[in-house]
Amino acid sequence: MRLIADYHTHTIYSHGKGTIRDNVEAALKKGLKEIAICDHGPGHFLYGVKREKLFKMREEIDQLNAEYRNKGIKILLGVEANLIGYDGTIDVDDEVIKILDLLLLGFHYGAIPKSIREYMLLNVANPLSKALSFMGKWIERKNTEAIIKALEKYPIDLITHPGDKARLDIRKVAEVASKKGVALEINAKHKELSVESLRMLLDTKVEFLINSDAHSPQEVGQVDKSIKRAMEAKIPIHRIRNLEEN
Ligand SMILES: [Zn+2]
Ligand SMILES: [Zn+2]
Repeated sequence: MRLIADYHTHTIYSHGKGTIRDNVEAALKKGLKEIAICDHGPGHFLYGVKREKLFKMREEIDQLNAEYRNKGIKILLGVEANLIGYDGTIDVDDEVIKILDLLLLGFHYGAIPKSIREYMLLNVANPLSKALSFMGKWIERKNTEAIIKALEKYPIDLITHPGDKARLDIRKVAEVASKKGVALEINAKHKELSVESLRMLLDTKVEFLINSDAHSPQEVGQVDKSIKRAMEAKIPIHRIRNLEEN
């Protein structure tokens, strides 16, 4: 089994440690054919990349692609967008979406929502529901509806660490995702999707991406934990888009 691309890596533009070039060099050493630079969306008050910077990142990536063309690696620009509204609104606008190669969506605490009510749901009810189980089903339904609405509104390619920060009805999300060609992530840094969750998706048609979520160049392409979970859950390799049989 071989990873051919890592579609989720962070740089100094949000809170990663390396530059774009550092991540690309690391990906080359790992033998990857593609790497995506996906910093946090502008709506995150701690880690968000400034909106204007995304245009600068586009230029930098275009230049690097010209430079690295002969070395056999392609660099993509993505954003790990935040959900900021339970109507499915995310923190990336159409003008930004136009310059992206890849749009990722994930739940993160610390995203600045559209209203106080949504702040309470996203940043208070979600962490609280881990301790107060009676809230679990209710918030799970809210989160699931919000993600599905976002999938209907935006050209999302990947849902990052689904079910990790916020509870989701993962089968429901998977059904809509597979119809829209959206992949679910098996993230090396986060425990969801877990083996148990993956097993629940065996009889759906949803496809997966295995990503490092690297926050430093050394972590680029490090996905052993994800591969182990996928294999343990017996996910067929053809449903993992960035794995290749040796
Ligand atoms: Zn994330
Ligand atoms: Zn991330």
